[in-house]
Amino acid sequence: MSPHDLSVSELSLALQERSLSSVEVTRHLLQRVEAHQGLGAWLHVDTEGALRQAQQADEQRSQGDNRPLLGVPLAHKDIFVTRDHPTTAGSKMLADYRSPFDATVVERLAAAGTVSLGKLNCDEFAMGSGNENSAYAPARNPWDTTRVPGGSSGGSAAAVAARLIPAATGTDTGGSIRQPASFTGITGIKPTYGVCSRYGMIAFASSLDQAGPMARSAEDCALLLSAMSGFDARDATSAERPPQDFAAAMRAQRCGAPAGKPLAGLRIGLPQEFFPCALANDVHQAVRGALAELEKLGATLVQVSLPRTELSIPVYYIIAPAEASSNLSRFDGVRFGHRAKDFLDPQSALSPLEQMYRRSRAEGFGSEVKRRIMIGTYVLSHGYYDAYYLQAQKLRRMIADDFQACFQQCDVIAGPVAPTVAWALGGKGDDPVANYLADIFTLPASLAGLPGMSLPAGQGAGGLPVGLQLIGNYFCEGTLLHTAHALQQATDWHRLKPSGF
Ligand code: GLN
Repeated sequence: MSPHDLSVSELSLALQERSLSSVEVTRHLLQRVEAHQGLGAWLHVDTEGALRQAQQADEQRSQGDNRPLLGVPLAHKDIFVTRDHPTTAGSKMLADYRSPFDATVVERLAAAGTVSLGKLNCDEFAMGSGNENSAYAPARNPWDTTRVPGGSSGGSAAAVAARLIPAATGTDTGGSIRQPASFTGITGIKPTYGVCSRYGMIAFASSLDQAGPMARSAEDCALLLSAMSGFDARDATSAERPPQDFAAAMRAQRCGAPAGKPLAGLRIGLPQEFFPCALANDVHQAVRGALAELEKLGATLVQVSLPRTELSIPVYYIIAPAEASSNLSRFDGVRFGHRAKDFLDPQSALSPLEQMYRRSRAEGFGSEVKRRIMIGTYVLSHGYYDAYYLQAQKLRRMIADDFQACFQQCDVIAGPVAPTVAWALGGKGDDPVANYLADIFTLPASLAGLPGMSLPAGQGAGGLPVGLQLIGNYFCEGTLLHTAHALQQATDWHRLKPSGF
C-alpha cells in the first residue's frame, strides 16, 4: 500500500514499527499536493516547515517517544489562526494576515506531534456549503472535479478524500464538517459545543462554531479528537470536563452485547422529517442501506419526530448572520483586515474615517459575507429584534427540547447529511437560498449544540458519495464513534476512493 493510502491509525502503526519515517511520508504527500494543485484544496503549503517538523518527529521517535500521533501529517482549515503560516479565513480581508499565536486546536495537535503541511481552502469566514465562496478559488470534489466538495471545510474534505493527507481539521457552524465529509466520502465529527476550544478559530457565529476532525474513518477521528479537545480557560464557552479518550470510548463493548452484534441494545431513532418526499432517491437508498447494516449489527430502528426541522433553516439564518455581523465588525482596516488605499472622495459628506471603513469593508468582503452582515444587522436593529432575533432564539430552545424528547426513545439519531449528492460547481447559480435549503439536516444539531457525525454510506447517482449522519446527545461522542466504528468494521464504504487519486 502506498503511504498516501494509509489511514492515521495505520500510519501511526507504521511509524511506531519504523517501517516508515515521518520524513518519507511527508515528502511523498508534499509531492502529491504539488501534483494535485488543480483541486484547489490548499491556500498555503509549507514544504520546509513540514519537513522540519517531520525530521524532529523522527528524532523524537528514535529517542523512544511513541505517542500515537507523533510524525503524522495533517493540515488545518484556514480558519484556525497559525503563527507559522498565513491565515486568510478564505477572505481577501485577511490576505496579508499573520497571527501572533496558534489556535488551541492547532497548538494541541502540534503538541501531540503532528506535522502540519499548511492551510486548507474554505468558504469566506466559513460561510457557505460548496467552498465556492472562497475569495481565492473554489476547491473541487476529487470524485468529480466539476462538482463542489461541499463547504465550508471544502479544502479539508477534498485533501483527505484525494489522499493528499490522512486527516485535516474542520469547523462546523451549521454543517461544515458533516456536509463536505458526506460529499467526498470521508468521516467527520462535530463534537458537542464546548468540547473543542474556539480560541484562535476566526469567529463566524460564536454560539454555534465548533471544531472537529475530518479523516477516513471513525477510528482516526477518535484519535484526533482526543488530542484536539479538552477544557481551555481561554474560551469562555469551553466545557469544563476531564480530558477524554475517545478511542477507548469507541472500542468499549456495549454491556452484554453478544459476539457479532456489537450494537445490540442500541436504539437508533429515525426522525420522520429527515426522510421527506423531496429527499433524493439515491441518497435515500444509500442511507437505508447503511441503516440495514446497523440493524444487522444488532441495533434497533425506532421512529421519532423532530417537528421543527424545517424551521431550523430560518432560525439558523437569523442567528448565524446576527452573530456574524457582530463578530465581523472587527475587520475595519484598523484593528484587523484589509485597508483600502484610495478612500477619500472630496464630494463625500462622510468623515475620512467613515469613508475608510466603508471602502475597506467594501473591498475586503465578498458578496455572501456582505449579505450576512446586512441580514444580521437588520435582525438585531431596533424594532426588528423582537420580531426576528428573539423569535429565532425561542425556536432554537424548542428545537433543542425536541431532541431531548427524541433521546427518551433512542440513543442515537440517524438520517441523511444532505438532501442530495454534491452539486455541480456553479450549479446553484447565484441563489443563496438554494444553498441555505440544502443545510436542512445539519442545522438542527448545530442549533441544539449536539454532536453530529457523517460517515460514508455508499454511492449515489454518478458514483458520488453519500453520507450517513449520526447525532448523539450532549457529550455522547463516544456512542457516535462506537456506532460508526462498528459499521466501518463490517462494511467497506469508507475505503472507497476516487479514481485517479
Ligand atoms: N452552510 C452553512 C452556512 O453557510 C454552514 C456553514 C458552516 O458550518 N460553517 O452558514
